[in-house]
Amino acid sequence: MNPEEIKNYFSVTPSTPLQFIDDQIFSERKIRFFVKRDDLTDEHISGNKFFKLKYNLIEAAEKGYKTLLSFGGAYSNHIYALASAGKRFGFNTIGVIRGEEHLPLNPTLEFAKECGMNFYYSSRTDYRKKYSDEILERLKQNFGEFYLIPEGGSNYLAVKGCEEIPQRFEIKYDYIFCASGTGGTLAGIINGSNENSKVVGVAVLKNASFLIDDVKRFKASEKSNWNILLDYHFGGYSKFNRELIEFVKTFTSKSNIPIEPIYTGKMLFAIYDLARKNFFPEGSTIIAYHSGGLQGLKGLIQRNIW
Ligand SMILES: *Cc1c(COP(=O)(O)O)cnc(C)c1O
Repeated sequence: MNPEEIKNYFSVTPSTPLQFIDDQIFSERKIRFFVKRDDLTDEHISGNKFFKLKYNLIEAAEKGYKTLLSFGGAYSNHIYALASAGKRFGFNTIGVIRGEEHLPLNPTLEFAKECGMNFYYSSRTDYRKKYSDEILERLKQNFGEFYLIPEGGSNYLAVKGCEEIPQRFEIKYDYIFCASGTGGTLAGIINGSNENSKVVGVAVLKNASFLIDDVKRFKASEKSNWNILLDYHFGGYSKFNRELIEFVKTFTSKSNIPIEPIYTGKMLFAIYDLARKNFFPEGSTIIAYHSGGLQGLKGLIQRNIW
């Protein structure tokens, strides 16, 4: 956990393709549509989690922490990336996992375990109050001092990292779309965006109007070039229907871009739906941010749902 080693690793952001999508829906309307392939940032610290972890890992190392602790569900892309980062840079990692232990471990947690992550399973009731003094004290008694990274990795340092995302878009754009869970990525993209463009978050949770305040709290408030679409959640986190499944499968086979129905699938569905409804003015350039993270899909395949 040498801060210089971590800074070195993150000093060069892997350059990822801005892939043009050739589809009649867009060409008919004279719209240019690209997907920023940040699913290709790193094999394990992939997508937005690369940017969310960057300054947190540097901070933890500079402050001398040896252990990182965070929270997530059993298929969490964040837990997976954190475990991998811990192994790479020599931190102990603790994953507080929502719900009971299920053996054998699913592929996400199996990978995390192989990276050396220790798990602490938390009942759903306890998980809801995971940041309370009571729970944090219990975790300290179990694991000693740790650097705490919130669920989904979202804090100010994560937002700071995500500001670098749009600064790497090599073309002029009118719209950036991203999938929003906690809103940390959206806030960072807003902060780093070109003010003449519009940044659109697609909420993947039901009743996610809390995101509006959370994004404002993440210092994105000075800019007004953003909004959040609250109606493309398909019933809630990790929920989807036949229409979304069909969409995801068709998009993947046409574009050769792997996506999943939990985050990126919903965001892309929203873009296609809006294009069909003629929401975008002629001549617009749209960039969809591929935030990586195919852990959810692995889980669906493992459970024969996909
Ligand atoms: C974690 C994650 C998100 C959500 O990011 P937030 O910053 O929590 O909004 C979006 N897409 C993928 C693929 C993720 O893994």
